[in-house]
Amino acid sequence: MPSKGFVYLVGAGPGRADLITLRGAELIKTADCIIADKLANPALLELARADAEIVNVPKRIGAGSFTQDQINEILVRKALEGKTVVRLKGGDPCVFGRVTEEVVALNEVGVKFEIVPGITAAIAASEYTGIMLTDRRYSSQVAFITGREADGKQGTNIDWDVLARFPGTLVFYMGIGTLPLIAKELIANGRDASTPVALVANATFPTQRVVRAPLNEIVETCQREKIEPPALIIVGAAAEGESELDWFMKQPLFGQSIVSTRDAAGNAEFARMIANRGARPVEFPTFAIKPLTEGNAFLHALAELTTYDWVIFTSPNGVDVFFDVMATLGKDARVFASNRLAALGTKTADALARYGIRADFVPTVFTGRELGTQLIALANLHEKKILLLRSELATSDLVEVLQQGGAQVNDVPLYTAVPQTGDPAALREQIEQGQIHWLTFASPSAVRNFFKRIPVDVVSAGNVKVASIGPVTTAQLDKLGVHVRLTAPEHTTDGLLGAIEQVESR
Ligand code: SAH
Repeated sequence: MPSKGFVYLVGAGPGRADLITLRGAELIKTADCIIADKLANPALLELARADAEIVNVPKRIGAGSFTQDQINEILVRKALEGKTVVRLKGGDPCVFGRVTEEVVALNEVGVKFEIVPGITAAIAASEYTGIMLTDRRYSSQVAFITGREADGKQGTNIDWDVLARFPGTLVFYMGIGTLPLIAKELIANGRDASTPVALVANATFPTQRVVRAPLNEIVETCQREKIEPPALIIVGAAAEGESELDWFMKQPLFGQSIVSTRDAAGNAEFARMIANRGARPVEFPTFAIKPLTEGNAFLHALAELTTYDWVIFTSPNGVDVFFDVMATLGKDARVFASNRLAALGTKTADALARYGIRADFVPTVFTGRELGTQLIALANLHEKKILLLRSELATSDLVEVLQQGGAQVNDVPLYTAVPQTGDPAALREQIEQGQIHWLTFASPSAVRNFFKRIPVDVVSAGNVKVASIGPVTTAQLDKLGVHVRLTAPEHTTDGLLGAIEQVESR
């Protein structure tokens, strides 16, 4: 009989994944089993161990949904299997979270538990919209209310008379479905029909929306603006909002949908950067990295690695491909004990650092030609042996510059990019419906593969702006007749987003 497991009731925070607590994130990383609500951001599950069991338990009406009893039963069963279970709930686990029922079920079978607080939707929505729930000038008290009990059924705990007279801010959770009743009851019980109301949907996400109307018009506004759950209803003077506190939706890239077109890993990283600037990332892979490390060129270079004066990596992908092979060979960073290393760009240097290597040289400008020129200025390369470990598709600029400096260059293809795409139909539809604002390209091969799947005229007709990371990528776009709105002056993904931000804040 296995020992009893342990259950952590963890608040996932209001939406945006990194608004979870450190403790919550740590527990997800170590759990054997995660039982997740629909409102918990699925990105958090990426923190879980590869072998963790994930059970999604949406609690809506309809197929595939779970009753509270079923959830309790799963929770108890997993814990009794001896597992460390994280019960992941949106916002704070105990704010309208039915934690009591889950805890009673655990207590009945003697399973121990811990509760990990999270940021509840009302608090986050307030701080992401400039709606101050407790500003001393107009709201000395705030009430959180469930809208689900507002359906007028017998035995509800909602006292409309008290709420109508409440001299502060009212925040209704789960109230979009019963909004007509909420508005009607508040007015019928004496609340001024002109009281400001705000609806905040998808708080903290790039899709966050706020609509406002007086109490007697809010139902119509909600329907017209098609506000859907999850959303909060905020009633009272606070709902007017303070424009100077409204930082989130004022970010220059807020509301922009930006497509990234790299490989899956590159897209995931770029998507985080896009979301950090308040925009909505759309990931559309155009290629996958295919190692060429079984080829003779690589194996030969590896055998004579100690004879090279310099080894140059030009991308994080190259670094990862190289060290993946080293891992399978049972080797590590010490293979470079006798070499000096150069990295093109700080991202490549960071990748080397992850394997314990501090690059000897990281040029401050980000093209191959510049790297070569600076390396020559730094070191006398005459008759020096240089090993280039990079993409098969790289241009010959760097090789030429180094050879002009007198170096013997061995340009070894470490990997290549094979075409692979996301779902072109889905992206095309979004473009045609005007839901995409920017397309970004970070390499000529991404450009080629993208436009094999989506015609150039679809992009131009959809009013999509095209941004390129640098001149080589721009040249490829020009060749296909794509109008390039901007080429980033700094040829990094950060530089690319910075340039887009400049255009949008004009
Ligand atoms: N325990 C959760 C609330 C669960 S009830 C918490 O502490 O936040 C579910 C309700 O929460 C939704 O119907 C909606 O009213 C609100 N909600 C949750 N996430 C939200 C979000 N990102 N934006 C707006 N409302 C949200």
